[in-house]
Amino acid sequence: MTSAQLLLRYQALVDRERELGESIAATEARLGSDPAVVSREEALAAAQANHDAYSTRLGESDRAREEHRSRLRSRERELMSGRVRNPTELMQMSEEVSHMKARFADEEAAELQLMEEADAAEAALREAQDELERARQASSAEDPGLREQLREWRSELAEVETEKDGVWEQVPPGDRAAFSRVRVRPAVARVANNQCSACHVTVTTSGLQILRKGNALVNCENCSRILVQA
Ligand SMILES: [Zn+2]
Repeated sequence: MTSAQLLLRYQALVDRERELGESIAATEARLGSDPAVVSREEALAAAQANHDAYSTRLGESDRAREEHRSRLRSRERELMSGRVRNPTELMQMSEEVSHMKARFADEEAAELQLMEEADAAEAALREAQDELERARQASSAEDPGLREQLREWRSELAEVETEKDGVWEQVPPGDRAAFSRVRVRPAVARVANNQCSACHVTVTTSGLQILRKGNALVNCENCSRILVQA
């Protein structure tokens, strides 16, 4: 292999090394915390908070109704007791009682509505719990496959690193330095139809001759990439 071919291979191994590193990191993160499970946990927390808010409102509503009920009863008893004899006062008291009854009926209707909403919130909470459980089961069922994949990637990464180091060692020091000087990526480009495949500028005749001999590196005169004969 010529230096340029070795550098092309080296470049491919560097790319593969990076890809594997990214896949391994993403899978390790995924095994640590499954996004599907995390989103179900968040949905459950929201459903729980909604359910708790309804429980609080129902409790308050019960207490208020109880208080209004006992106030109504004591007014009714007073009205029926015969202690109040003044007709104006009796009239006022009777009106007050009928207002209290009307308000109490409204409160009962509101309470029924609230209870229906609380039931719906409880059903949503149970559904969120079931969905989280299903997501957890699906996640753990997926784990063995992911762990096997991770093992394969790690072993390929070790091979890639070994080969990459081996290829680099075969490149003469001067050509390694030339490779390191190229700032554009990828640093090595194939020649196709006498053109640099990266920037599509035609390679000079002398450049093509050196490439054919394969005994020295040729840089693209336009993009300065190291050229390799396809
Ligand atoms: Zn070029």
